[in-house]
Amino acid sequence: ARKSVLGPLVGAVDQGTSSTRFLVFNSKTAELLSHHQVEIKQEFPKEGWVEQDPKEILQSVYECIEKTCEKLRELNIDISNIKAIGVSNQRETTVVWDKFTGEPLYNAVVWLDLRTQSTVENLSKRIPGNNFVKSKTGLPLSTYFSAVKLRWILDNVQKVQKAVEEDRALFGTIDSWLIWSLTGGAKGGVHCTDVTNASRTMLFNIHSLEWDKELCDFFEIPMAILPSVRSSSEIYGLMKISHSLKAGALEGVPISGCLGDQSAALVGQMCFQDGQAKNTYGTGCFLLCNTGHKCVFSEHGLLTTVAYKLGRDKPVYYALEGSVAIAGAVIRWLRDNLGIINNSEEIEKLAKEVGTSYGCYFVPAFSGLYAPYWEPSARGIICGLTQFTNKCHIAFAALEAVCFQTREILDAMNRDCGIPFRHLQVDGGMTSNKILMQLQADILYIPVVKPSMPETTALGAAMAAGAAEGVGVWSLEPEDLSAVTMERFEPQINAEESEIRYSTWKKAVMKSMGWVT
Ligand code: ADP
Repeated sequence: ARKSVLGPLVGAVDQGTSSTRFLVFNSKTAELLSHHQVEIKQEFPKEGWVEQDPKEILQSVYECIEKTCEKLRELNIDISNIKAIGVSNQRETTVVWDKFTGEPLYNAVVWLDLRTQSTVENLSKRIPGNNFVKSKTGLPLSTYFSAVKLRWILDNVQKVQKAVEEDRALFGTIDSWLIWSLTGGAKGGVHCTDVTNASRTMLFNIHSLEWDKELCDFFEIPMAILPSVRSSSEIYGLMKISHSLKAGALEGVPISGCLGDQSAALVGQMCFQDGQAKNTYGTGCFLLCNTGHKCVFSEHGLLTTVAYKLGRDKPVYYALEGSVAIAGAVIRWLRDNLGIINNSEEIEKLAKEVGTSYGCYFVPAFSGLYAPYWEPSARGIICGLTQFTNKCHIAFAALEAVCFQTREILDAMNRDCGIPFRHLQVDGGMTSNKILMQLQADILYIPVVKPSMPETTALGAAMAAGAAEGVGVWSLEPEDLSAVTMERFEPQINAEESEIRYSTWKKAVMKSMGWVT
C-alpha cells in the first residue's frame, strides 16, 4: 500500500461514446492513481439511428466514482484529498430533460445518428446564404451537430414540445446533463456548458462566444432551453449526491473543469502552442491542430472549432479539426454484428496472422463520410474480395481503414496549415493496438508518438479542473509534465508501397459514395 501521496488529487469523469470512466490523478505529478470504467449500451432502433439512455450514462458515472473511491481506499489513499472534478464528454450528443423531475424526455441522440438527413436537406433549402452557418460556427450543415438533432426532437417528440410550452424543458450535450445532475439536478442543479461543447451545437457563435440569435431563429430553437456558456476551467458548482444513488464520498467537491473530449485530449497532450496537434482514436477519430487565437477556416473539408478557454478571463484558443466518424466503432461492429472477435483486443491477433489485407479494402462509412468529404450518401463497403479472403484479411482491412482515414485528414491539415507534420501525437482506446500504430506510421510515412499514460482525455479535464480559480492545485506550466514518457513507431515500409495502398483506398472510397439517394 502507498504510504503517502504528495499532492492534492483531482478526479475526471470521461464520458465517451463507448464507455464511461472516472480517474483520479495526483496534481503534482500527473500520475494516474486509480480508475474505473464501464461500457455504455448503444441502441440502434432503426437503420441509421443511434441512441443512448441518459440515465444509464448518469448511473455509469456514479458507478465509476464509487468503484474508483473503493480502489483508492484499498490503496490507503484518503479520498478527501480529491479537491476538484473535471468533466470531459462525447460531444454533440443531444439530451432534453425535465427540470422539475430530472427525467430525460427522450433518449440521447448520439452524434453518429443519421436520422436528421432530411432535416438537413430541408434546412439547406432555406439557408440565407451559403456561408451563413459556416462563418458563424466553423461547421458545415450536417447531421453530426446538435442543432439539427434538437430540431428533430422538437418536431417529433410530443413530450418535449409540451415541456417546452410549459417551460419545463432543458437542452444540453452530455456535459450539461452530467453537471446539472451532479450538482443537484431538480434540486438546484447548474445548467451550463463550456465553450468547447457549445461550439459543437451549431447554435454558438465562435467569434463572440455566445449563443447566436440568428442561428437559433434559423433552426427555430427556443433560447430559453439552452444552458449558460462558461469557460472550460472555473467552478460551475459543487458535487451534490442524491440519496437514491450512493457515491456520497465526493459531496461538496467543486466541479471546475469541462471540455469536449477532443479538446480535453488536446490539453492533456499539452498542445498549447500554435501548430501543435494530436489524433485521438476512439469510437471515431479526431485530429485537432491548435491554431492559437486565430479562427482558421479550412479549404479542405476541416472544421473550425473552439479548442479551449482555460479560465473566465483567459483568452480563447481555436483549432482546426479533421473528424472521422468511424474508427474504433468498426472494431465494435466486427465484435457485435459479425461476431468474428469476442473482444476488441482480439482484432490484433487476427490481423497479425496475415499481416496484410491481401487487396481487401473496408470503407466503414456507416454514418456517411465526415472529413474531408462530408458525404452523407456514402455507406460502408468491403471490396476487393476473392475466394482467398478470410476474416483475418477483413480484420486487417478494418485497421488499415482507420489509418487511411487519418491519412486523409492529415493531408487536408498539411494543405491548410502549409507546414507538413513531422510526427503525429496520438492517444485514445485504439492506440493500445500496436499493429494499428505501426500501420499508421507506415501509411503516413512519419513517426507516430504515443504517451505511455494513455488517458490524455481525462488528464486534460483534470488539468482544467485543478487549475481553476478558487481550486488552484494544478499548474499548467509545461515543465510539470517533462516526466511524460513516449512510445515511438517509425515507418518501416517504403513510401512508394505506402502510396500505392493509399491510392487504392481512395478508389474504394469513391465506390462507397452515392449509395443512398
Ligand atoms: P470513446 O472515447 O469514443 O468512448 P475509447 O477511446 O474508449 O472510445 O476507445 C474505445 C474504442 O476503441 C472502441 O470502439 C473499441 O472497439 C476500440 N478498441 C479498444 N481496444 C482496441 C484494440 N486493442 N484494437 C482495436 N480497437 C480497440
